[in-house]
Amino acid sequence: RAGAPVDLVGADLEVPLVQGGTTRYANLDHAASTPALREVVHRLAEVAPYYSSVHRGAGYASQVSTALYEAARSGVAAFVRARPADAVVFTRNTTDSLNLLAGCVPEGGEVVVLDVEHHANLLPWRGLPHRILPAEPTLAATLAAAERSLARGPAALLAVTGASNVTGEVPPLAELTRIAHRHGARIAVDAAQLVPHRRVDLAGSDVDYLAFSGHKMYAPYGAGVLVGRRDWLDAGPPHLAGGGAVREVAVDGVAWAAAPERHEAGTPNVLGAVALARACEVLAHVLPEAGPHEAALRGRLVAGLARLPGVRLHRIWSDCADAIGVVTFSVAGYDAGHVAAYLSAEHGIGVRDGRFCAHPAAARLGLPRDGAVRAGFGAGTCPDDVDRLLSAVERLLVEGPQWTYGVVAGRWAP
Ligand code: PMP
Repeated sequence: RAGAPVDLVGADLEVPLVQGGTTRYANLDHAASTPALREVVHRLAEVAPYYSSVHRGAGYASQVSTALYEAARSGVAAFVRARPADAVVFTRNTTDSLNLLAGCVPEGGEVVVLDVEHHANLLPWRGLPHRILPAEPTLAATLAAAERSLARGPAALLAVTGASNVTGEVPPLAELTRIAHRHGARIAVDAAQLVPHRRVDLAGSDVDYLAFSGHKMYAPYGAGVLVGRRDWLDAGPPHLAGGGAVREVAVDGVAWAAAPERHEAGTPNVLGAVALARACEVLAHVLPEAGPHEAALRGRLVAGLARLPGVRLHRIWSDCADAIGVVTFSVAGYDAGHVAAYLSAEHGIGVRDGRFCAHPAAARLGLPRDGAVRAGFGAGTCPDDVDRLLSAVERLLVEGPQWTYGVVAGRWAP
């Protein structure tokens, strides 16, 4: 697998083909969940013997587990260059982080979001006063609309994606942050897609909150992060009520702890946090090399697909120059699910199809109910993966599928 900056577990996975035999799995579904880094899996094996209760155990393994967990917190803080006034809260995933933050927006505070967000950055705000802005066809017009909306009346928070999970487009965070702050609002960035591809610098960018997930940045499922200004997190209601989130409990009252403990009741996902922090360390080293690598792959894929008649590439903004390794397209004459099933069954290529948990975004792009096909790649993707996708789509257009696909239990299958 020449040409990939990182080594991923499962990179040499052989998968069965419908026509018989096997092929190396081309995992182009990183935007949903990435395979784990080899270093992350090594780290898990190293710390597994210390598996023990954290924070309240006196035994040696408990002390090691506690130290590992808190070191993971510091590691994440260092990776995103958190400020002294920030707290790092470990959560289950980005969805959990944004729900936690929604609970901490000060009473009556209004939240402004774009309509092209992932559901995780749309639905948690529904319980609060909020404004949903339609994304305009250009970024320039979208930024102007955000500015007008924030100028019209005070909002507490602008919640934006760091990179679209539908198109990979990266809106200008520095500018969005300036707009939010100019009008007295804070900014929360849904960085689920951004963090595996770009270094985010809280101290340097002045972004207030960042939410991301381990499973999209080469660590296992089940651990995520909310990092940002601790004042709201200290004042908001605990995300979960229970042990570990308190200073003192009486039968008729409770004094809650400050963040992060306030929001981490119950036994935390220590291994998940340690794995996520190890992924941060590795990414800190490889992102300078991975960035250009991914940009080259994206260029190769976009140029290759654009050459194929009948392939339509989707984007939200006509003037957005920046994008991560997510490319979404439709093939004329085929449902998205049909294309995805063909790519998997006949070519061993894993992509995602549908509306990507962003139904309003899909509607804005004019996608049918069946959605589109999304290729998501990253630091572990090699040029061969992209070339295989291109030649498979080309064969589909020239020869059609060699098998017949039907919908079985809601999925397309041969
Ligand atoms: N935001 C974006 C932009 C995403 O791509 C995703 C995952 N598809 C999420 C939020 C939700 O992440 P998780 O499922 O890890 O909570």
